[in-house]
Amino acid sequence: MFRTIRMKSDRRKGFTLIELLVVILILAILMAVALPLYLGAVSDSQTKTCRANMQTIANAEAAYKTSSTAHTYTTNLSDLLPNLGSIPTCPSGGSYSVAISDGSQTSNGVTVPAGGLIVSCTVHGTFAPGIDSQ
Ligand SMILES: [Zn+2]
Repeated sequence: MFRTIRMKSDRRKGFTLIELLVVILILAILMAVALPLYLGAVSDSQTKTCRANMQTIANAEAAYKTSSTAHTYTTNLSDLLPNLGSIPTCPSGGSYSVAISDGSQTSNGVTVPAGGLIVSCTVHGTFAPGIDSQ
């Protein structure tokens, strides 16, 4: 009687190596499933934030075109500072530029008419307001 009680109390506490390996294996499987989904969601959100920044630049261009005496777009982003406050930054580290189409440029497979605005990010590509947003 005493012997069995003492044997139970002598048992070592803690996990066996097999139990630890099973836990590590389960964590590895969960990470293999969750990590690509997480990284994809982060990438999607960065793309959408960048697209919103490009729309903001396009809106500032429209305001600039309306208020300038020549009523033309500008390709110099610093001209937009009175309307933008500050030039947006791409969450993926890209930089923005603005171009005016001569009728031969395309944005996402659609030809941008001459005089149309094209906002570009070095990471996320181009955005032509009025064409890509339809
Ligand atoms: Zn970008």
